[in-house]
Amino acid sequence: MLLKMNPQEFLQFLKNEKINRFYFVYEKETKTVKPSHPALQELADFIQNDKRDFMEHEGAFFQISSAYDVLQGAFVHRTNRGQAAGGVRFWQYDSMEDYLRDGLRLAKGMTRKNALAGLWWGGGKAVMAHNPKYDKMDPQLRETVYTDFGKLMTSIRGCYVTAEDVGTSVEDMAHIFSQTRFTTCIPEQLGGSGNPSAPTALGVVSGMEAALNFLKMGTLKGKIVAVQGMGHVAEPLIGFLFEKNVKKIIAADIDARLVEQVKNKFADRNLEARTVNTDDASILFEACDIVAPCATGAVLNPQTIPNIKAKIICGAANNQLENAQRDGKALMETGVTFVPDFLTNRMGIVNCADEQSGYIDNDPFFTRHLDREWEHSIFRTTLKVLNDAQQNNQSPVDVAVRLADELSLQDNPIYGHRGEKIIRSLVQMNWQDLG
Ligand code: NAD
Repeated sequence: MLLKMNPQEFLQFLKNEKINRFYFVYEKETKTVKPSHPALQELADFIQNDKRDFMEHEGAFFQISSAYDVLQGAFVHRTNRGQAAGGVRFWQYDSMEDYLRDGLRLAKGMTRKNALAGLWWGGGKAVMAHNPKYDKMDPQLRETVYTDFGKLMTSIRGCYVTAEDVGTSVEDMAHIFSQTRFTTCIPEQLGGSGNPSAPTALGVVSGMEAALNFLKMGTLKGKIVAVQGMGHVAEPLIGFLFEKNVKKIIAADIDARLVEQVKNKFADRNLEARTVNTDDASILFEACDIVAPCATGAVLNPQTIPNIKAKIICGAANNQLENAQRDGKALMETGVTFVPDFLTNRMGIVNCADEQSGYIDNDPFFTRHLDREWEHSIFRTTLKVLNDAQQNNQSPVDVAVRLADELSLQDNPIYGHRGEKIIRSLVQMNWQDLG
């Protein structure tokens, strides 16, 4: 019953039960998910029995925002490598099932992205359920909701470190930072690392070069690339690709103003750009060497895959495969080399990862992701994944997931599996009663 409620109905239920904060924590010894309150057992059972998105997540901590009916939750998947890290999403959900699933799925995804990137970080994600009775863009609402979220971060004692994600802006990050040290992606003027979109584009270029190398197709010079989306990542990507002397770029976006802007910027280059409707996926079907999805997720599916002519797909968009196993296999069978997105689009999180350690020019902790020497660089990891996939007749996504899951179980060389201990301490101190 609780599962089918929308987050607003669920908040009412919580208020009736006089619950302001609650948690679900995984008890390894008994392999059970324990709720903070008996009234929430149904949700704990759902999480524990879910085969799709639950993967022994260490814990999830929730609160109701102080002045607004907004549910805020921090999902901690795995902390062997270090504090769980990942952004905070502000999104609308139809049911508590959708809300919980999104948090679990996204947190697990961050564990994989961080581990494959060789970061000493675990994986987590926060999700806030937008309440449609409010104007989401109301500055007063945003200030309160994100300030409260910062307090939630402090209260969970650093088992999770937050960052920017869909629905959250850098101004919102400043509100979080006013309440907690457990955040990254803060504004540049407060010591943050700034907009990660250009670094993300550089990571995509590295992935493309690795895929070309794998297929013995040489370098980017002279290649034709089709780019879906012309936004924050795609625009610098187009610039970097021209610097690599690609022959031609074909690009599409649904935003006519943006298309004109990017066209003007590269007026002296061989860029063919067009405005498309939201349901027009024709850019993916161009006769070219590489397709780079840089717009939205789930664009690779049974409707689009049979029409793809490129040899390589490598882009920044998150979750490009509608169904990872099914569509990964379909691409393999049609002879398209797919570079998993969570491998190439890591530079956003890498950009934030070392904010606490200060800045130097050409920081090796940043540049090594883009070189060819470091074993966890995008180039070397992509080559390893593509080679393993070929040898074992598996899809690159399956191989990347396996590799990431192995890496994610390595304990942090300094702190060990400290996040688990933090979570245990929260349970012991009755965290749910303190807020
Ligand atoms: P963005 O919003 O700036 O750009 C996305 C663009 O795609 C927009 O201009 C939008 O109009 C366009 N678009 C939407 N639907 C489209 C469609 N059907 N066809 C063509 N164009 C369409 O976002 P961004 O920051 O450039 O990120 C792009 C993708 O990369 C997203 O999926 C994002 O989650 C992912 N990503 C971004 C970063 C980063 O550093 N910005 C890091 C990791 C992953």
